[in-house]
Amino acid sequence: MANELFNNGKHICVKFSDLSDSDKSQAAVQSNQFLIVSDGHGALIDPGGNMTYNALMMGMGKYFHFRKLNYIFASHQDPDIVASINKWLVGTECKVLAPAIWERFLPHFCSVGNTEDRIIGIPDQGMNIKLGDATIKAIPAHFLHSEGNFQFYDVTSKILFSGDLGASLVHHDLAAEPVTDFASHLPTMLPFHRRYMTSNKACRFWANMARTLDIESIVPQHGRSFVGKPMVDQFISWVENLECGIDLMTQDNYRVP
Ligand code: FE
Repeated sequence: MANELFNNGKHICVKFSDLSDSDKSQAAVQSNQFLIVSDGHGALIDPGGNMTYNALMMGMGKYFHFRKLNYIFASHQDPDIVASINKWLVGTECKVLAPAIWERFLPHFCSVGNTEDRIIGIPDQGMNIKLGDATIKAIPAHFLHSEGNFQFYDVTSKILFSGDLGASLVHHDLAAEPVTDFASHLPTMLPFHRRYMTSNKACRFWANMARTLDIESIVPQHGRSFVGKPMVDQFISWVENLECGIDLMTQDNYRVP
């Protein structure tokens, strides 16, 4: 299902939430893919793996012809984020923007020669990206969860596409619905964040930075979105206080089996 997150007639943000398991296979985690179209320019955020390629190519057609795609933005290097890039590189003339520390790893998803001058490394400090007249900010979110990790803040819609931060593991029927009750949503997020996020130190740095942005919605790559400033503030405060990853590790996690 394509879900319009923002549309002012000239600038559109679309969320696709049911492509990754459209084959009804329960083996793959539900994931969201995003399209931003601005005045005739198009970018995909975290387009996913091979199982989403055909469905996304067709699903985005209502908004933008896939062959004219300008950019793919990759939050990090995982298979559910960019395993499909070889197909996008062959089918379009797009450039892929991905964390600089992963730039030389991504060609392993691709055929030899396909990535030449097509992958642009986002420096550790982040960058501003122009999509037509619109600006998308690549925001550092290192260790949340990948060592080199970016979120994408769309200045026009004030949506923060947060990658795995905020991810919830829910059925695809639910993934299109924004969170309404934070406390009852928590069990779908907590185990994932405790294991996949690295440490509270990174969480606190991120929360401090996030509070300097004017955010209307936080939209993760798995599961449900956080819409409206009260929900966004609640989410940021939760992240700030989250104990996760190495905070929770003890010698018991490092024993020879
Ligand atoms: Fe990941």
